[in-house]
Amino acid sequence: MSLESAIANRNRKQYLTWWILPLVVIGGWFYPLLGYLLPICMIAAMGIALFKGRYWCDWMCPRGASWDLLLSKLSLKKEVPSFFRSTPFRMLWIMILMGVLAFKLPSALASLDPINQVGLVFTMLLTVTTVVGIVLGIPIHHRIWCGFCPVGTMSNWIGKGKYALEIDSNCKECKTCHDVCPMQIRKWEYKPEKEWAAVENWDCLKCGLCIEVCPTMSLKFKEAS
Ligand code: SF4
Ligand code: SF4
Repeated sequence: MSLESAIANRNRKQYLTWWILPLVVIGGWFYPLLGYLLPICMIAAMGIALFKGRYWCDWMCPRGASWDLLLSKLSLKKEVPSFFRSTPFRMLWIMILMGVLAFKLPSALASLDPINQVGLVFTMLLTVTTVVGIVLGIPIHHRIWCGFCPVGTMSNWIGKGKYALEIDSNCKECKTCHDVCPMQIRKWEYKPEKEWAAVENWDCLKCGLCIEVCPTMSLKFKEAS
């Protein structure tokens, strides 16, 4: 498959899901039941991570699809500072997520309309984090949120080693694969002296674009061998 076909194929899949993000972020304030799509997505992402790592985040995540299809058109697409993908920063966002749920859910459950109030909590969480992703995504990179998204981080941990991208010793470190990688993973840094080695960066979204663009065919997914 050519790179153009791979991108078109990926975009086609992302068109199936991106609209769910504005549906919940806007519609959830009027129809709070839509907010329940957030925990459903969270559980689905982590369930898929058990078998295929962060595969969900590539096109099944409505927010990830929106970042690629829409936000990328506004983004300056700079290199994401490593701080945004550091473990302490990721942990901070997991604690923020847990803290908001722990603080807001009890009062929502105790209200006169708990089903709608809980839905509103999820809608509020999705809205605030989406605004954070947009505010950082325009001046830096459209997928910057995916580097510290709590669900992405947990999928990273759960999916460690699953459906791993591998690199072989023929890599000539041309860095062509960097240009197409939504997560800016520096694959050549994992190049082995002999044969194949796993690219041990578990933020890989399994999009496969780097495989298509590599001039030495030095990349593949483990299951494809
Ligand atoms: S495009 Fe291929 S050869 Fe170039 S750095 Fe990436 S893996 Fe190595
Ligand atoms: S490393 Fe390759 S497969 Fe993984 S996200 Fe980057 S471009 Fe996609």
